[in-house]
Amino acid sequence: MASEKITKASTHVSQDEGLLFERSAAGKWGVALPDCDVPRVSPEQLLDRKLLRETIEDFPEVTEVDVVRHFTRLSTWNYAIDLGLYPLGSCTMKYNPKINENVARIPGLAHSHPYLPYSLVQGNLKIQHLLMECLKEITGMDAVSLQPAAGAQGELTGILMIRAFLESKGNPRTYILIPDSAHGTNPSSAAIAGYQVKNLKSGERGCIDPAVLRTAMTDDVAALMLTNPNTLGVYESDLVEIIEIVHSRGGLVYMDGANMNALVGITKPGNMGVDVMHLNLHKTFSTPHGGGGPGSGPVAVKTPLEPFLPTPVLEKNEEGLLLYNFNRPQSVGRVRSFYGNFGMHVRALAYTLANGPDGLRQTTEDAVLNANYIRSKLQGVYDLPYSSPSLHEVVFSDKLQSKFGVSTMDIAKRLIDYGFHPPTVYFPLIVHGALMIEPTESESLDELDEFVHAMQSIAEECEQNPELVKGAPHHTRVRRLDEVGAARHPILRWKPDSK
Ligand SMILES: *Cc1c(COP(=O)(O)O)cnc(C)c1O
Repeated sequence: MASEKITKASTHVSQDEGLLFERSAAGKWGVALPDCDVPRVSPEQLLDRKLLRETIEDFPEVTEVDVVRHFTRLSTWNYAIDLGLYPLGSCTMKYNPKINENVARIPGLAHSHPYLPYSLVQGNLKIQHLLMECLKEITGMDAVSLQPAAGAQGELTGILMIRAFLESKGNPRTYILIPDSAHGTNPSSAAIAGYQVKNLKSGERGCIDPAVLRTAMTDDVAALMLTNPNTLGVYESDLVEIIEIVHSRGGLVYMDGANMNALVGITKPGNMGVDVMHLNLHKTFSTPHGGGGPGSGPVAVKTPLEPFLPTPVLEKNEEGLLLYNFNRPQSVGRVRSFYGNFGMHVRALAYTLANGPDGLRQTTEDAVLNANYIRSKLQGVYDLPYSSPSLHEVVFSDKLQSKFGVSTMDIAKRLIDYGFHPPTVYFPLIVHGALMIEPTESESLDELDEFVHAMQSIAEECEQNPELVKGAPHHTRVRRLDEVGAARHPILRWKPDSK
């Protein structure tokens, strides 16, 4: 019965298991180049004989068509946003419009060398400058650095700036307050910047409790680091009071802006009193992400923190020429080579300008609508631990299914059989067995309905045939992987004898 519903995943099993990964055979050739008509220098003339290899062990011998088919086949064994919904909560896996790729690949942009003189790259710098202006407008902040290459690096840069700012006032202080719902990068960024982390326990609604904060906010606290909407997808409705409490004791407020997909075009963290924040261009601004990069995590600050921005800082001189200023004595220094991941800046600007202010607002509204559609359809089918209104993502738990011995991990794996990427699981930590679903605005009603249907079917299976769910995935090339082992002891190269 279940297999009838399984449609999309079928591409993963179109080749039977007898298909060998190994395609190499002695004597196969991939190229046939004409003889070289340049006088040859023998290798011995260039290198010591001892350094030369006669043969290369395990070097595959394959034809060109073997190579093309091998990699094309591998690509179909994977999941991608270009195949379907990718509801990985907190990660904002929205569709990346192809026009952005075309723009980023314009040769003048893609091939320009970072050492070109400023006079020859005014267009590139204008792209960065315009993006900075857009991000200032969107966030309500006063200054931006595009340098950080990831959200986590934006956090580290921001906390280093907070430290430098407080140090300039005489005392960098000792602690950073972080709610227990925070993304794991928050406490690690604070620790790397030399701070000790104090945990703030969330209140009943899953938000920061002003009373708890008031007690924790002492004169040795440098900053509160919060995510808004938080990792439950819930808006911190006491934010103004929260920020007042922190400021009244001389602390600063850092906002993790990875969830800006719920706010863009609606409201601005700068207006709320946030002092420093970062954005994830590779989430909210539709630049590709996954596989470790390249990302972009610009950091935005209020005027008092501007002197501490990473060097160099993009500025316009008196003649209107854009150039990078390295002479910034109070700067926290450089955090990334050259000017950041320029290609991401191009994509983000293309996305921003293509949407315009109304489009960006619509994007946010659709993202929130889609999350709430899923919430209303799955509420009751899955346990909803916090009933506060959801913004762009919704967090369920496995409480109702655990009665049948089925866990969040099993449900996530079963979704793969239905052709969907699983949601984020076991995060935020304050929800036991969390299933964190973020559909984003990219998805049509049809796609959302298919997902809802899959989730409803899995809930039925949990009752009627829990073993089916616990044994999932059934239709992928590999089944349950040792994820921790893969991270701790990565095998990065396939070898014939490791079959
Ligand atoms: C993704 C994310 C981060 C980290 O961003 P990276 O680019 O992966 O370093 C930080 N905080 C939250 C809430 C996130 O969702």
